[in-house]
Amino acid sequence: MKSLLPLLILCLTGSHCFPAHLETEQQDLEIVQNYLEKFYDLKTEGVKISKKKDSSPVVEKLKKMQKFFGLKVTGKPDLETLKMMKNPRCGVPDVSKFAITEGNPKWEKKNLTYSIENYTPDLAKEDVDNAIRKAFKVWSDVSPLTFTKISQGEADIKISFYYGDHYDNSPFDGPNGILAHAFQPGPGIGGDAHFDEGEEWTKDHRNYNLYRVAAHEFGHSLGLSHSSDIGALMFPSYGFSDTNDIQLSQDDINGIQAIYGPGNNPIQPTGPTTPHACDRKLTFDAATTIRGEKIFFKDRFYLRKNPYDSEAEVNFISLFWPSLPSGIEAAYEDAERDLVKFFKGNKYWVTQGQYVLPGYPKSIYSTFGFPATVKKIDAAFSDGYTGKTYFFVENKYWRYNERRRSMDAGYPKLITNDFPGIGSKVDAVINDNEFLYFFSRTRQFKFEPQNKRVVAVLKANSWFNCGNY
Ligand SMILES: [Zn+2]
Ligand SMILES: [Zn+2]
Repeated sequence: MKSLLPLLILCLTGSHCFPAHLETEQQDLEIVQNYLEKFYDLKTEGVKISKKKDSSPVVEKLKKMQKFFGLKVTGKPDLETLKMMKNPRCGVPDVSKFAITEGNPKWEKKNLTYSIENYTPDLAKEDVDNAIRKAFKVWSDVSPLTFTKISQGEADIKISFYYGDHYDNSPFDGPNGILAHAFQPGPGIGGDAHFDEGEEWTKDHRNYNLYRVAAHEFGHSLGLSHSSDIGALMFPSYGFSDTNDIQLSQDDINGIQAIYGPGNNPIQPTGPTTPHACDRKLTFDAATTIRGEKIFFKDRFYLRKNPYDSEAEVNFISLFWPSLPSGIEAAYEDAERDLVKFFKGNKYWVTQGQYVLPGYPKSIYSTFGFPATVKKIDAAFSDGYTGKTYFFVENKYWRYNERRRSMDAGYPKLITNDFPGIGSKVDAVINDNEFLYFFSRTRQFKFEPQNKRVVAVLKANSWFNCGNY
């Protein structure tokens, strides 16, 4: 997903978001053909596809691929689709059966063994052992399965690092592209996980983190296939969530428990769910405008209206702002200085484009002068015309003078005094033209500041094209 980055930056900086359709070059057609053959079971019998020939099987497969990744379903190899195809990913197909066994294979026993057949020179031996042990733990924490490392005899799951062709009909491709693959449960090669030694394996945020890729591959070793949920570990592209602490999404947990049942833990673990723009129960943590666009924040994700598609774009906050934490609680744009400020707890970050400025996070107390009783900011917006920023904290609000860089006297005031009708708890606020939009749980209040009145009550997700809710 990394290659989406330049596109998104373009989007946030200019009015021309998505590049216009370009003539597909033969080179791109080859990428498309290759990708669809590998991951979508396209059969061309070695004949190169071209624009002149009947391309209906390609169109069908392309549509499937676009649907899987939540792209606009055009059946055409547009730029978005090509970018997605160039992302580093897992080598296991998204639709066809990859395993040598038919059906939905699973291990018939709960206590499984694994062996590390060889080690990558990229990491110390104990770092590889650690990464693999932790990657198995991700799954044993939410299922009745256990994993024991053995160094003698044949293990159920054999882990190896290979360069290029390694005689299982799925050669590796060197740096990037395909990172690893694994076989579904079964005897022999079944369950085994192979890692492309052409990659640089790491134990940190640099590409590619072995723990993260291994945790994904072991999902296949246990019988899971790919998920189209972008927040799931079983999503086929290399993710951007914090690699030091992989958390299975609820989708992953549901998957593994559908095969093996729940674990023995009396308190059943749960995982985060990925927000859906049209979920009528959707609430936001924060929202802001950024260079003319409205961006909403929820857990690890941001949501934005895609100007060229009815479906909203949902992606990891860390995809666009690698240094920001998840769970942003408030955000506002200082349009005059082209900055966006993000708040979580008593800390804040200042960003320009995708970069967090040096020296951040800083404390909200020293900069803004909040009293120690303020533990977090619920919502904020800045009025570019007056240079005043409004902070909402529980049932009160503060006003900060951006030009003098000090809190205005006489604050905090009660929200109900100056913003009547918006409820007692503000989750997020954005300003747009003459109006303010306050988000409170699943509702949104369109507020006219001049007359201090709510002029409309909307669903929180009304900015997305969700039909008639
Ligand atoms: Zn995979
Ligand atoms: Zn292999």
